[in-house]
Amino acid sequence: MNKKVVLITGSSRGIGAGCAKEFAQAGYDVVIHGNRNMERAEKAAGVCRSLGAEVLIHQADVSQFEECEKMVQAALDKFGRIDVLVNNAGIEANGSIAETTLEKFDQVMKVNTYGAFYMSKLVVPHMMERKSGSIIFMSSTSAQTGASASSAYASSKSALHGLTKTLARDLAPLGINVNAICPGPIDTDMVADLSEEVKDWVKSRIYAGRLGSPEEIGATAVFFASEKANFISGQIITVDGIFQSL
Ligand code: NAD
Repeated sequence: MNKKVVLITGSSRGIGAGCAKEFAQAGYDVVIHGNRNMERAEKAAGVCRSLGAEVLIHQADVSQFEECEKMVQAALDKFGRIDVLVNNAGIEANGSIAETTLEKFDQVMKVNTYGAFYMSKLVVPHMMERKSGSIIFMSSTSAQTGASASSAYASSKSALHGLTKTLARDLAPLGINVNAICPGPIDTDMVADLSEEVKDWVKSRIYAGRLGSPEEIGATAVFFASEKANFISGQIITVDGIFQSL
């Protein structure tokens, strides 16, 4: 029997790579996707292969619909199926509304929101045909609570919550579940880029006393995609060690 296939956007590194590792461990074949640094994608693919997964590596900018179309087609050409879509690719943007240029707002929305919409729009017809599937959006605690100086980023992630709940309703009758994960601060490049002072402040506000790992987010995604979660849809789960952002 063919193995199940997961397509994870932004899986060249960070949370996406952690998801890829967890899905490979759970017996999936994996589409690894990156935008620029494809050496990192090769490394993530190597980890999945060492766990027994067959891997397709694909480069695409998710803010461009045509590039998303090519990625989905490449995945179907290689594997003939996409069982799980993890909309994980994303970019961070800090700054007050005064500091956030129109161009920056557009860019963040294009990658974080439009990219996830494009990918879902392309994969849903395939899942509808097969009457099964799972879609997972990578949101953020900033979409749940708001976050200081995060108007573009928090907005881009909040929009995913509307998409999660709406797609969940539309697709439940077809056996497709749709959920979202809100990670708190996770140990990836996105956090590594913060100053030491900000990093210490962030850690001091996590009750668990540490950053989360990409694999902890991946394990949550694997659960949502599993048959054990078939009756769970439209849910937005926070995985943050209890983070109190401002
Ligand atoms: P990261 O910067 O380490 O990785 C981001 C990934 O997205 C990379 O693979 C990159 O290639 C891809 N990407 C960026 N722009 C792209 C584009 N235009 N087209 C295609 N791919 C693109 O980030 P991360 O920390 O692993 O975050 C992954 C997801 O989790 C993001 O959506 C982020 O918003 C979310 N998140 C992260 C944290 C955290 O603390 N790290 C917290 C909450 C939510």
